[in-house]
Amino acid sequence: MTATRRFGATDLILKQGDITREAVDVIVNAANSGLLGGGGVDGAIHHAGGPQILAECRQIVARQGGCPTGEAVITGAGRLGARHVVHTVGPVWQGGGAGEPDLLASAYRNSLALAAAHGARTIAFPAISAGIYGYPLDRAATIALGVARDFALQEQDFTEIRFVLFSAESFAAFAAALRALPGEAAR
Ligand code: ADP
Repeated sequence: MTATRRFGATDLILKQGDITREAVDVIVNAANSGLLGGGGVDGAIHHAGGPQILAECRQIVARQGGCPTGEAVITGAGRLGARHVVHTVGPVWQGGGAGEPDLLASAYRNSLALAAAHGARTIAFPAISAGIYGYPLDRAATIALGVARDFALQEQDFTEIRFVLFSAESFAAFAAALRALPGEAAR
């Protein structure tokens, strides 16, 4: 299953599948602040990518003590079919009144900017915060795609911004949010 819409020079692409199998310049990991691995997509990325990614994460932790919520760091991609992994930390859903929408938008925006600064033209995201962190899927999808759209219209870095959704339910939520995005004229 796929769905696509183009904004500026960038295709926003939705796929259902396993992000560790994507061939892109940058795979984004929904990490936690400790950066030393976890469950969900984080565990899958470290498992598929091998120990080199964790070794680089440890160096980042030694240097800056982890990654605050809404920010992003970059490592190599080990055995994955990508050049880099961007590790970003989405917010834990606490009901919506604790700045979660801004923090989730920052996680996406900072990941795009960091990947672009490393020359990436293609990038793949999971549904950040929408698993263990409990962010409601529909709201998470609207924020994710809104940030991607704005970035595509403002910057020319990416030919493709992909969202790789693990379940049919998350694909459906993102597909509905993609259809509902305003077009290029109305901003
Ligand atoms: P968070 O802690 O940010 O919520 P999770 O890893 O728990 O992160 O979940 C984020 C999303 O990633 C969820 O929708 C989950 O189903 C999905 N996911 C888990 N494994 C993979 C994978 N291999 N590829 C793509 N998405 C995945």
